[in-house]
Amino acid sequence: MNWITKFIKPKLKKLFKKQSQSIEGALWTTCTCQELIYKEDLHKNYFVCPKCDSHQKISCVDRFKIFFDNSQFEILKTPSPPDDPLNFVDTKKYIDRLSAARKLTNQDDAIMIASGKLKDINVTVGAQNFSFIGGSVGAASGEAFIHGVQHAIDNQNPFIFFSCSGGQRMMESAIALQQMSRTVLAVNELKNNNLPYIVVLTNPTTGGVSASYVMIGDLLISEPKATIGFSGRRVVEQTIGETLPDGFQTAEYVKEHGGIDMVISRKDLRNTIGTLLSILLKIKKSEVTKEDATIEAIEEPIQKTSEAV
Ligand SMILES: [Zn+2]
Repeated sequence: MNWITKFIKPKLKKLFKKQSQSIEGALWTTCTCQELIYKEDLHKNYFVCPKCDSHQKISCVDRFKIFFDNSQFEILKTPSPPDDPLNFVDTKKYIDRLSAARKLTNQDDAIMIASGKLKDINVTVGAQNFSFIGGSVGAASGEAFIHGVQHAIDNQNPFIFFSCSGGQRMMESAIALQQMSRTVLAVNELKNNNLPYIVVLTNPTTGGVSASYVMIGDLLISEPKATIGFSGRRVVEQTIGETLPDGFQTAEYVKEHGGIDMVISRKDLRNTIGTLLSILLKIKKSEVTKEDATIEAIEEPIQKTSEAV
């Protein structure tokens, strides 16, 4: 060991650590449009860039805060299956990836479930955090989703889910793939109980997640410009040997081609879903508050959906 490793390196490390901490705690942040945004403005604007309308990825807790009435909700404790059952190692140990993701997001796994009220209607809500290993679904997230559905059935609540994921968690191999059929079966139980299941697709919703519990929602709503698909654009182009049109796999393109029902801005989601639920649950129009006065605009897509069913 020489003086460089003994004295200079630790000093440099300390300096860089300090710098990264000050960036983290900074009042400003940047968007993909390269604009500098005051963090508080971003939060007030539902984490949507005020300059370019980009709907940023958010944590489950932030999602619940902006969705439930008065930001009041209860986070439900979901089952915790064993970590890393396959002792999986790629460039890193999966167990290390898990602990890094937990530290980063302050969540046990990618999916969290909460219950509370939306426009005075009791609802069970699930959300997925992309910062937790790409929002991928393994055993723990599968269990969380099923627990959410069970809570909705036990309390006769509608179930609303905000998807944001690259697909199944490959570090859990077949166990992750099994979650596709398990979650679909859970949604079937929701439908057997005649409870509404509304999915809000956020950027991105792809892979095994879009191929399982997401696309079987009674109503599929997406945030603007969200990427929705199964495989990525490049893979599809290589497989079919054709160049795909502009906007392929965006929410707007998928809606135009009948894949989803609506594209709604994040700030309007509460009103829209509140109104939809009041119709689906047959609450009298007089009981719906004036704030929700978009019923006529929404009734048409509902009729279309029920005809399709
Ligand atoms: Zn922007």
